[in-house]
Amino acid sequence: MVSSRSRLLTVPATLLLVFGITLLGPACSGTGEPGGGTSVLASNAIVADWARNVAGDSLEVDTLIPQGADPHTFQLSPAGIRAIAGADLIILVGAGLESSFKDTVVENAKGTIVTLSDDLVLAPATGDAEDDEHAHGEFDPHIWMDPDLAIQSVTHIAGALSALHPGEAETFDANAAAYITQIRTMDESVAAQLAALAPAERILVTFHDAYGYFADQYGLTVLGFVVENADEEPSAARVATLIRDIRESGAVAIYREPQFNARVVDQVAAEAGVPVRLLPSDTLSPAYPTYLDLMHAMADAISG
Ligand SMILES: [Zn+2]
Repeated sequence: MVSSRSRLLTVPATLLLVFGITLLGPACSGTGEPGGGTSVLASNAIVADWARNVAGDSLEVDTLIPQGADPHTFQLSPAGIRAIAGADLIILVGAGLESSFKDTVVENAKGTIVTLSDDLVLAPATGDAEDDEHAHGEFDPHIWMDPDLAIQSVTHIAGALSALHPGEAETFDANAAAYITQIRTMDESVAAQLAALAPAERILVTFHDAYGYFADQYGLTVLGFVVENADEEPSAARVATLIRDIRESGAVAIYREPQFNARVVDQVAAEAGVPVRLLPSDTLSPAYPTYLDLMHAMADAISG
């Protein structure tokens, strides 16, 4: 598994180290040290963005999985474990997204752990590798791909922050309400943009199984994905089937994701005769630094 991971990661280790120090190092405030204030630790950059929108300027929110890293294969650093131990509130997605390190979180946490997917009605994961311990799990954990699940999660976060700081509950609720209005506006805009696409442009072939909610929400079809699980290499048979399906469907492109190696995607694209487009999924970047930006960036990528 270790060699498979290192092949799939495209973010250089040195970059991850820089992010790790920036996000989790001793220089950042709110890590539970005396006088450091309350610390909120969010699973990935997307959940951290939700929490910051709800918290406003009241609380320090740090990110457990550095921006640009793949959540499915992420391993905690010593600094990450220290941040977990110092956090008053840890917000996880659940549903298997953090399965590579969730036990370490539970073992080291001293504060409250909130798991957003526990309160959500999730769709089954598309993958069928039920007997594989590295499978995504029974349900699709990519909750941010569905604005309705995002809105429910933001409300959940507001409740968790209010339990931590009852005196600021009104502020958190007002911040959440304002942010939910922005999510609804984004949802309408993305829906209108994608509604204009031709049927062949509505077909998604991606690296991993991350887009089920997005496709359901906006009338797209997930034709297939290159890997069954984000930490595995695809079989030759799977690649051959995917190439055949792309040709037969008339799909206009295959989509790679920034946090994964593009080699297999490039191979499928070349043999199927379609271009490769970059489609964000599980993390933010300087090009789409917020959740709202991420959703717009996905709509733009699919629109060509
Ligand atoms: Zn994913």
